[in-house]
Amino acid sequence: LPPINGDFYHLGAAALDESDREVQLKVRAFLEKEVKPVVNAYWLRAEFPHELVPKIAELNICGLTYQGYGCPGKSNLLEGMLAMEMARVDTSMSTFFGVQSGLVMGSIYLLGSEAQKQEWLPDLQQFKKIGSFGLTEPEVGSATAGGLTTTAKRQGDSWVLNGQKKWIGNATFADVLIIWAKDLDDNQVKGFLVRKGNPGFTVKKMEDKMALRIVQNGLITLENCVVEEADRLQGANSFKDTAKVLRMTRAGVAWQAVGCARGAYESALAYTRTRKQFGKPIASFQLIQNHLVEMLSNLTAMQTLCFRLSQLQDQGLLTDEHASLAKVFCSLRTRDVVSRAREVMGGNGILLEYDVARFVADAEAIYSYEGTKEINSLIVGRAITGFSAFV
Ligand code: FAD
Repeated sequence: LPPINGDFYHLGAAALDESDREVQLKVRAFLEKEVKPVVNAYWLRAEFPHELVPKIAELNICGLTYQGYGCPGKSNLLEGMLAMEMARVDTSMSTFFGVQSGLVMGSIYLLGSEAQKQEWLPDLQQFKKIGSFGLTEPEVGSATAGGLTTTAKRQGDSWVLNGQKKWIGNATFADVLIIWAKDLDDNQVKGFLVRKGNPGFTVKKMEDKMALRIVQNGLITLENCVVEEADRLQGANSFKDTAKVLRMTRAGVAWQAVGCARGAYESALAYTRTRKQFGKPIASFQLIQNHLVEMLSNLTAMQTLCFRLSQLQDQGLLTDEHASLAKVFCSLRTRDVVSRAREVMGGNGILLEYDVARFVADAEAIYSYEGTKEINSLIVGRAITGFSAFV
């Protein structure tokens, strides 16, 4: 039988030089060997596999694109492909990694002072410290740009934060949480590094999620939480600065959607080649082949789009609209791919042990986080029409 591979146009081999390709294959081997065998059990228990973190650190891929501070300084294209590799085996692990490497390290790298970079980036890169990124609130999800209700009040050399944050990944065990709050004096959004153990801060694990169950999302309450001015992100002066981080991480989420679709496609293809009905492998039936080809078409279109997205990022030409369009397209197409994967597996498609059920559930989270499909569509709509639908 021919190899099962969702990279039909050999983008991995064509796009990466030999050393980057080695990194890609090393990460793939790690996921297959260490993550795949345990992932369904953790997903079912909604627990995080902490013992895997030192092994992920050994891969030396965190903060992959940043220069200095112990970071490898590699391309955005490789970073995107690694996000795909992780999500291809488990979207939760890819999300854990994306929060640490993208949202948290990215905020500090793009918006932190030199002292903040020196203090946090090397330890975060090595996973000696774990980070979390708190933007969304219980009552403010899509409208964070203008609507944050968490407040920050300057008092001498300190700030006092009050409010709540919901859905915050890694929050239950993070050493540092980046909290976004509105400055009561100038009404602008600012970012604060809240350290573990700060007495003004409590976190409660969110239970009973139906997707990304391995990711530990927290509900955070800040009650007169005092943060030193030295722990305010010095380059974050309005939501426009927060958006710089989101532009970068949305590109990563588009790649993550590719990985989720690829994992489902490859599992479904393998299954259809061995499952027999009417005395033949179901892969030999025309209607099943049609599903597989629809899946591969979507997957290939997504991969090719993301490939170009990362090229633009590497050239410094990535815009918010580029990242949003890719996130919209990939998260939408992924939903289609995973549902066809489930369909061709019949009843086994809803059993966790066949993996596809997990991809189906996790695709729903990808669809809604880092800006819902609607919000990212409106970002693109504003750019192409000249009219903002947000107001
Ligand atoms: P809402 O904003 O309430 O939206 C509900 C619906 O209304 C959506 O369909 C939306 O598209 C639609 N809608 C809203 N406004 C408009 C409009 N103007 N026009 C048309 N439709 C509109 N946040 C963090 O800060 N840090 C994290 O680590 C984090 N991790 C997450 C992990 C998971 C698994 C999930 C599910 C979420 C996470 N989030 C995180 C939050 C995530 O970014 C929000 O869920 C997302 O921004 C949407 O907000 P909401 O869920 O409050 O939906």
